[in-house]
Amino acid sequence: MVGMLRLIASARKGGISAAESFCSCGRYETARSNARVLALIAAHHAHRAQCPLQTEGRNAA
Ligand SMILES: [Zn+2]
Repeated sequence: MVGMLRLIASARKGGISAAESFCSCGRYETARSNARVLALIAAHHAHRAQCPLQTEGRNAA
């Protein structure tokens, strides 16, 4: 497992209020609004395909 994405749900609004993206290569990002969280999730998944440490998952369907 190279990267990790943690989502923090908002009890008030029922959406995702914050998120943190970690990666073993040292990449770390946070987001604190719904729009930014969605962008962070997309960037996190995109990074997994680009990460220099990523050596697995190329065969995943
Ligand atoms: Zn990485």
